[in-house]
Amino acid sequence: MAFDTKLMEILACPVCKGKLDYDKAQQELICKFDRLAYSIDNGIPVLLENEARRLVLDEENTEQES
Ligand SMILES: [Zn+2]
Repeated sequence: MAFDTKLMEILACPVCKGKLDYDKAQQELICKFDRLAYSIDNGIPVLLENEARRLVLDEENTEQES
């Protein structure tokens, strides 16, 4: 089952309540603020802080600041 990107409009990070970014390749929802990646299980995002993966600096390739 594919993740419905329309859900992005209503989903928020459980930690900071901020917007999430969808990583299609990794099938994860990313919170850049907290540097957490939430997995998507069978189209259902697992928005649990203790289930999230911590991002390493190398993965922050969308960083806008220099
Ligand atoms: Zn967050």
